[in-house]
Formats: sequence, structure tokens, C-alpha cells
Amino acid sequence: MSPSSSAKPFIIGLTGGIGSGKSTVAARLVERGCFLIDADNIAREIVEPGQPALAELAEKFQGILNADGTLNRAELARQAFATPEATAALNAVTHPRIRARTDELFQQAEREGARVVVYDMPLLIENGETHRVDHVLVVDTPDDLRVERLVQHRGLDEEDARRRIAAQIGRAERLAAADTVLSNAGSKDALLGGVDKFFDDILARTHPGAGTDHRT
Ligand code: ADP
Repeated sequence: MSPSSSAKPFIIGLTGGIGSGKSTVAARLVERGCFLIDADNIAREIVEPGQPALAELAEKFQGILNADGTLNRAELARQAFATPEATAALNAVTHPRIRARTDELFQQAEREGARVVVYDMPLLIENGETHRVDHVLVVDTPDDLRVERLVQHRGLDEEDARRRIAAQIGRAERLAAADTVLSNAGSKDALLGGVDKFFDDILARTHPGAGTDHRT
């Protein structure tokens, strides 16, 4: 049977607040053979130099290009989040492209015969996209630890980290939407162990007989 005629992939929607450990979980799932669709990466890709969205944004917003032609994100954010109209103008350019690219990658995963897709999407719940996934996996990490990790590993200052956390939906809302919650309050190894256990369980349920082969 050719890959294109195989069953649809099982889709894991991976979400969690900033600094919770999503990228760490996603990387492990990729090691285990999952096909990754990374929403943050798509959002960056569609505004790279040469992409039509960047030219359209540069027409609507003044002075948002760096000297080398790349997007000055801070300047775009300053202008685009100043008024609801400006935000709508930004979204009108970016949202359809993000949607199209995301759909394209889901189709590619299916064409390539991927058995499990991980859709890493920070706003999965906020954007009401849980319907498009088979299983919602939430990484849950206490706020203070997220702040500590964002400051230590990502170079944010504490106030900025706390502001970003406060701007997102709260823990209760996230947990209410979860099919599985992975706690990341311990070591990274403990998190990775949790991911492996979760994934073995998913494989056993969706592909019985696949054994413990590390590829899906
Ligand atoms: P997200 O993608 O949700 O923003 P990351 O996976 O990038 O979060 O994790 C944020 C930072 O914290 C990264 O630098 C990561 O290596 C680190 N990190 C994640 N989990 C742990 C952990 N259990 N212990 C220590 N550092 C961690």
C-alpha cells in the first residue's frame, strides 16, 4: 500500500503556557518519530523576506523592515497592537497565510503516511482549534518555575516573563481542555520520561502491535 492510501495520522495537539516546556516535549516526540507542525515556526516563516505577507505588511505599516530586509518584530508589534484596527489589519494579512500553510503541512503529513502528528500550538485552546486534533496534551508548569526558566534560559527579565504569562489564559481553563496533562514541575529527565510513557500509551491505543519501536 502506498503511503498516500494509508490511514489518517493521529493528531496530538500540544499546548501550554509560555515557558511550560512545549518545545522540549515536541522535540522528544519528534525523536520518537512524530511529524511536527510547529505553529510558532509557521508564523515566522510566512513573514520571511520574499514572502508576500511581508511586502503587504510593509505597505500597511511604516518602518517595520530592518536594513537587511527582515521584519522588525518589535516595531510591528508596537504599531499593530496600538489599536484594534491596526491589529485587525495585521491579522488580515497573516491569519489566512498561517491557516493555509498549516493546512498544507497537515496534508503533507498525511501524504507521507505519518502515523502520529504533533501540532505544537501555544494558542490551541484560545483559538478554538482543539476540534482539529484527536488528543489535547497540556504541559503544566507552576508559574514561578516558568518565570525562573524563562529568565534563566531565554534571557527575559522577570517582569516581562510575568507580564507574558498573565496575558495568556489561566491554568484552570487549560487543564479543563486537556485529555492528558504532563506535569513539568520536576527535572527535564522526569518530563522526558513522562513524554515517553504518554507516547507509548498513545501508540498502544492507536497502533496496537506496533511494539516499542522508537519510530512511529
Ligand atoms: P515552551 O516551548 O513551552 O515555551 P521550552 O520547552 O522552550 O518551553 O522550555 C523553556 C525553557 O526551560 C527551555 O530553555 C527548556 O530547556 C527549559 N526547561 C524545560 N523543562 C525544564 C525542566 N524540567 N527543568 C529545567 N529546565 C527546563
